[in-house]
Amino acid sequence: MTVFQDFSIDPAILRAISDMGFEEPSPIQKEAIPKILEGLDVIGQAQTGTGKTAAFGIPIVEKVSPELGAVQALVLTPTRELAIQVSGEIRKIAKYKRVRTLPIYGGQSIGHQIRALKMGVHVVIGTPGRLIDHIERGTLTLDRVRILVLDEADEMLDMGFIDDIERILRVLPGERQTLLFSATMPEEIRRLANRYMKRPVMIKVTREEVTAPSIEQVYYKVLEKNKLDALCRILDAEETELGIIFCRTKRGVDELSEQLQARGYLVDALHGDLSQAQRDKVMGDFRSGRIEYLIATDVAARGLDVTNVTHVINYDIPQDPESYVHRIGRTGRAGKHGIAITLVTPREMKQLRVIEQLTRTRIQPRELPTVEEANERRLAQFVAEVKAMVEQGDWHPLVEEAAESLISSVDPRTLVRALVHYALKDELTLEPDSGYDFGETGAAAGMVRFFLNVGKNINITPKKLADELSQIAGVSVGEIGRIDIFDRFTFVEVSESAAPFVYEALKQGKLLGTRVFVEPAKPRSRR
Ligand code: ADP
Ligand code: MG
Repeated sequence: MTVFQDFSIDPAILRAISDMGFEEPSPIQKEAIPKILEGLDVIGQAQTGTGKTAAFGIPIVEKVSPELGAVQALVLTPTRELAIQVSGEIRKIAKYKRVRTLPIYGGQSIGHQIRALKMGVHVVIGTPGRLIDHIERGTLTLDRVRILVLDEADEMLDMGFIDDIERILRVLPGERQTLLFSATMPEEIRRLANRYMKRPVMIKVTREEVTAPSIEQVYYKVLEKNKLDALCRILDAEETELGIIFCRTKRGVDELSEQLQARGYLVDALHGDLSQAQRDKVMGDFRSGRIEYLIATDVAARGLDVTNVTHVINYDIPQDPESYVHRIGRTGRAGKHGIAITLVTPREMKQLRVIEQLTRTRIQPRELPTVEEANERRLAQFVAEVKAMVEQGDWHPLVEEAAESLISSVDPRTLVRALVHYALKDELTLEPDSGYDFGETGAAAGMVRFFLNVGKNINITPKKLADELSQIAGVSVGEIGRIDIFDRFTFVEVSESAAPFVYEALKQGKLLGTRVFVEPAKPRSRR
């Protein structure tokens, strides 16, 4: 098994990676990092979410010399969001090294960027247009660049950046390492690679078909913003003997277990940082049912053999179908009933489809318990508990005096109401809160109207748009209302309950292969 320690990299980087919660390299990282460290040009093809950023980010941080105050690595990304994201990830990897990174993108004040560049930057991550701006103004010197990365190359070409990219390539030193990452490899990219790369090593992470065990598999679509609340509602509704909740990173595991413990759930964390004694203690508590849910990463759960696991919950959707199959295989052992529950945010919907395809299973959608159902359940449980307590009749010896004082001064109905309120006021909720307020958008009653910056120019029709939205946001076509398509923009109405999902799915997303911009419509513009 490859671990990060196997790579010949600075211990300061290893420490940073461990802080990030990464336990072991992902498949693309295992293959690409040694080759990049060797100095070879590399083409990496792997789907989104497979860890390509760290695959080039780790070698970059290793290779840059902090004492040399010049830009030594340049990363091109298609969008500003991605530039910021990649810069953030490289900054984390460089946490214990004096390597400075800077994202450069359109929309931000150029003066600010010029000042930041003057301070001395080692790694620049930017969108092609704005980079060319700086090159032309002479505010970005690239003659010491030794590593160039084209991240999401297919996207950049789709967005028409080919000329810009070639212009940048021409001003870079010929003596350099070129890395190209992409989810797909269309002909245009091969041509680009042939022209500008030196005998590149092709690394392709393919996925073999895997079969999922026959246990019940369901998913809930949840909003990024409300993931924790959604999980709690699911946990409240499930009859669980023992369950395992999976997160992507150690850090995620720690955060989630703290949050759930704070809310009174019987959970504990299992991850690679625990000593053997700590691990044994957690496992002992779990086997004996003192804790109900174990929260773990894929690595930590390896080799874990517990019968009676009734629930596997993917709080973070797994990065690949193999790990999905591994995870859910922890339940339904010895012919017992098991259920695998996956939380899916709108942006992860595609990942869910990939898992379904490669495992050849249908994962059934389920609706989150509504606020009303959650309230009803809690109230019924409270009533049952109180009745049971009355039946037993053994309460605390000190309550007597307070009880007498209340009984002699308050009428019994009011008193009981007040007590129930006092006991449950923090747990009952009135408003379903989506976390979004789209304001007045000029939509029909119960609907939200969105503005999209694409229209007939990308050949959408109402039917195509409705189908596509229902696919990517996981909402039913019935939730989609009036659609008005113009030459270069579109208005679409969706039900209030579906609106947050459509919004999260489109915000940084694509429609029919084109990146789109979405915002709540202004009421005035209704026709
Ligand atoms: P890609 O560029 O392939 O779409 P990213 O580099 O954005 O994927 O990685 C997706 C997510 O996985 C990020 O949140 C990243 O921090 C996380 N990640 C990357 N490598 C690892 C790893 N080895 N272990 C755990 N999480 C990782
Ligand atoms: Mg990426």
